[in-house]
Amino acid sequence: MLIIGLTGGIGSGKSTVARHFETLGAPVIDADDIGRELVAPGQPALAAIVEHFGADMLDDSGRLDRARLRERAFTHPEQRRALEAILHPRIRAEIQRRIASLSPACGYCILSVPLLIESGWQDLADRVLVVDAPREAQIQRTVRRDGVTRQQAEAVIASQADRHTRLRAADDVIHNEGDLAALQEQIEALHQRYRQLAVERA
Ligand code: ATP
Repeated sequence: MLIIGLTGGIGSGKSTVARHFETLGAPVIDADDIGRELVAPGQPALAAIVEHFGADMLDDSGRLDRARLRERAFTHPEQRRALEAILHPRIRAEIQRRIASLSPACGYCILSVPLLIESGWQDLADRVLVVDAPREAQIQRTVRRDGVTRQQAEAVIASQADRHTRLRAADDVIHNEGDLAALQEQIEALHQRYRQLAVERA
């Protein structure tokens, strides 16, 4: 199984790209989805978060108050490391479990990890595919999609790997600066390429 690590900054278009790969038949494993599932009520990771950060991280229904936790982790580097120590090993283990359960007939799979480079998780993938977009497009798309302010979008961009660092780590790049048709064309070309690479490796 050829594993393609898909990454990119906020609003770059990762989810849009992942969805299109999926329509072409590629299995998609999404680290953010796994992270969310791992902190559902009853999960050991949620208990570990409450033990470390306190019960005020839960809302009235006993679910994780993600905004509150994010704010705490975002503003305190040592708290962020503590949160990562709880979540990262569990997310990695679940990613590996899901990869192992895929049918080899799929050829390749997409592993979507927004912070692939920042977390140093390139080792999970055979190739790194970066969705690259101009900073202004990232801001506009994030503001429009999430209803956040321009300053909030800029703060997230500043907390992530910069564009050049990400591009240096890339084996393949999708340039998402045009319309959706231009995006899909690039994805379809890569789909053919990855299928071919998977055959050559088999
Ligand atoms: P995040 O890291 O914040 O989850 P993302 O990288 O997954 O973001 P998407 O959610 O795929 O980004 O895209 C952000 C928004 O921009 C979405 O509303 C999406 O529909 C839109 N978008 C992405 N690419 C294009 C494009 N080429 N043309 C128009 N809209 C686009």
